[in-house]
This record gives sequence, structure tokens and C-alpha cells, in this order.
Amino acid sequence: MSADFSTEAVVIGAGIVGLAVARALAQAGRDVVILEKNARVSEEISARNSEVIHAGIYYPKASLKADLCVEGRKQIYAFCESHDVPHKRLGKLIVATRADQHQDLAAIHQKAADNGVTDLQPLSKAQIGALEPDLSATGGLLSPSTGIIDSHAYMLALLGDAEAAGASLVREAEVTFVTRRGDGYRLAVRNAGETMTLETSLLVNCAGLWASRVARLIEPLDPMFVPPTFLAKGNYATLNTRSPFRHLVYPVPEVGGLGVHLTLDMGGAARFGPDVEWLENDDPARIDYAVSQAVPARFAPRIAAYWPKITETMLTPGYSGVRPKIGGRENPNADFRIDGPAVHGLGGLVNLFGIESPGLTASLAIAGKVEEMLRDA
Ligand SMILES: Cc1cc2nc3c(=O)[nH]c(=O)nc-3n(C[C@H](O)[C@H](O)[C@H](O)COP(=O)(O)OP(=O)(O)OC[C@H]3O[C@@H](n4cnc5c(N)ncnc54)[C@H](O)[C@@H]3O)c2cc1C
Repeated sequence: MSADFSTEAVVIGAGIVGLAVARALAQAGRDVVILEKNARVSEEISARNSEVIHAGIYYPKASLKADLCVEGRKQIYAFCESHDVPHKRLGKLIVATRADQHQDLAAIHQKAADNGVTDLQPLSKAQIGALEPDLSATGGLLSPSTGIIDSHAYMLALLGDAEAAGASLVREAEVTFVTRRGDGYRLAVRNAGETMTLETSLLVNCAGLWASRVARLIEPLDPMFVPPTFLAKGNYATLNTRSPFRHLVYPVPEVGGLGVHLTLDMGGAARFGPDVEWLENDDPARIDYAVSQAVPARFAPRIAAYWPKITETMLTPGYSGVRPKIGGRENPNADFRIDGPAVHGLGGLVNLFGIESPGLTASLAIAGKVEEMLRDA
């Protein structure tokens, strides 16, 4: 029986990564359909993050996170310029609050250089005081290429480009099953209460928190090529007074996390976090995004290490986002996985797993990589 529709390439998921991939494939001349199960685009991970354009400082050398962040950062700044996407190169301060952390700063400086981030500037206590008088720090590093972006405007610009190159987006279209059909794939898609079928030569799974579940729907894919996705919630607290800061401020990283750091939105409002809260239930349908009333009390003493004026009453529970973690608690900083045919043996298929931070920054570079992996398929 023939399928209801056919196309050359299907991208599952209209988050930032799916939209960037669809844009790259469409601009390379592919006929692209984007399938999104929700009524609107970018309602999940892409709507609940820090909106920071990362420099690429902390990731292990030669990892996908390091390479795609550094390359993606250059591309996203150029994209913002050419597409009028609101963004600001605010710069970020990494601050030590004790003398014994100065060796950590030196190690961060070296790691950044290994990743090709060569613009970090060491700062003395006095230099930090001149930049941000409210900070209490014994020394630090300035990352001038860290910035912020209006991620919603970015996403709309990606979609605009993709559609201009011929891609179409189908909302409320959930992929429920995938079988191999000749050299391509046949998808069952639930749309407006009905199930339709769609055939495609190329299939890219950009389903974010659902990526492992979607990969398990692909009938011929060996389960050994599907890592589990664990969920780690990140809670934010918002500052309910005017922010005295002009830079993003990060303490020296602690074991297992970046510490309770301060980021700014495009309007200049400050928020702190995200922390790391592992969820016991790994079903994305059951995520509770509410932020506990206990968060301000938990964050305030940690922020006070670098901003002594903070009090718990200056903080309000904010929003939260959830990270797709493929390494679990044992390997919380596992690298991105972008598995093409060379990994799993199925022509025309790419699965993206564990696209947590810096996925926004890296999105254009990820898209370029996926397009390249499928170029001869
Ligand atoms: C707390 C937090 C803070 C972050 N901060 C930053 C930051 O400051 N800078 C940075 O660079 N990165 C940051 N990130 C990472 C960044 O937000 C993500 O890497 C990026 O948004 C992931 O986009 P995505 O398209 O992969 O996923 P998503 O945006 O979740 O999109 C996946 C889409 O797939 C759809 N889908 C799932 N299953 C199906 C199906 N069966 N059929 C059809 N559609 C389906 C979903 O509905 C969803 O819309 C942060 C992440 C978190 C959680």
C-alpha cells in the first residue's frame, strides 16, 4: 500500500535543533517536512533555558560539545547579525572567592585555550571591582565572547529560513512508529486525531527529551544504539530587585556543576541557576516544571559567596527546564551523540541524543554536521 504522503527528508521535533537541521537540509536543496507533536514550536527544552551563547570553555578537548560550541558560537553571532536576532555580547566573569580557587582559574584558562577559546582575560581583584563593584572576588577570568540571545526570535528566524527554502512544518503531528521501506522509512504520524503515513528517504530524530523513546520506535534500529535518556531538572530563581550587574557571573565550577550562577535576560533582569535535580521518573510526559518555594533559601547562601548583599527575600522561585542526560548520575557530563549510518548501519538515519547545554549555542554547527552526514545519502 502506498503512503499518504512522501518527501525526501523528515525532521522529528521543532525545537531549536530540529529547526536548525531542517534549515540546513532545505538550504542544501532537500525537500523537508518537520513533524512536531505539540501545537507550537519550541515548547520544551528550547523554551526553558538560560539563553546564553557559550564560549566553549569547560568541555573536554575534542568532544562534540567543545568543537560544536566553539564553531556554533561563531555561526550564531553571524546569524544574529544577518537576521536581526536580538542578542548582546555581554561577556562573562568567572570569579574565585578564595585564594585556593586560583589554581582552578588557571586550569580553566588552559582548558579554554585547548578548545580554541583564546580570548579569556585574567582579572585581578581590583579589575573585577572596577567592572562589577558589587562583586566580592579574589580574582577571575573575563570571557568576552560569551553573550545572550532572544532564543524565541532565533527560533522564528530559523523557521523562516527553512520555510523560505521550501521546508514545511506540520504541528500536532506525533511520530508513533517507523519502519524501513526500501532505502527509506515509512512513518506513522498521529495528526488531528487521525493516523497518516509518510515516506521519506532521510530521517533525523531531534526529539530532545523524547529522543530515546522516538529511536525505540524505529523498528529496524538495534536497541544497542539507543542510550537511555535520564532527566535532570534545572531550577531558576529570579532576582526581584534591579540587577546591579552588567556581566554574566559564574563562580568557579564545583564538583558536578557550574555552581549557582547569574545570567541576564535581554531586558536586563537577573536570574540565578539552574541547579541540578535528577528526576526519579524519566517519562517526559510526567515532568512537573513547578519550582519549589525552597529554592531561594537554598540558593541565597551560595550566591552570597560572590555577592554578599543577596538575601533570600530578594529571590523568587522562577521557571525550570529539563536536560536530556544520556550518562546518568555516573557520567553527568556525557558528550552529545549524533549517530549517523556509520554508527548504526541504517542509511539515511541520524539520531541526536543528549543535546543539553550548549545545544542552543551549537545548533547551527550541529545542523551543519547532520547535513554533511546525510550529504551522499
Ligand atoms: C535548564 C537548561 C538551560 C540551558 N541553557 C542553555 C544555554 O544557556 N545555552 C545553550 O547553548 N544551551 C542551553 N541549554 C541547552 C539547549 O536549550 C538545548 O540543547 C536545546 O534547546 C535542545 O533543543 P532540541 O531541539 O534538541 O529539543 P527541544 O526543544 O525539546 O525540541 C524537541 C522537540 O521534539 C518534539 N517531539 C518529541 N517527540 C516527538 C514525536 N514523537 N513526534 C513529533 N515531535 C516530537 C517535542 O515536542 C519538542 O518540541 C539549556 C538546557 C536546559 C535544560
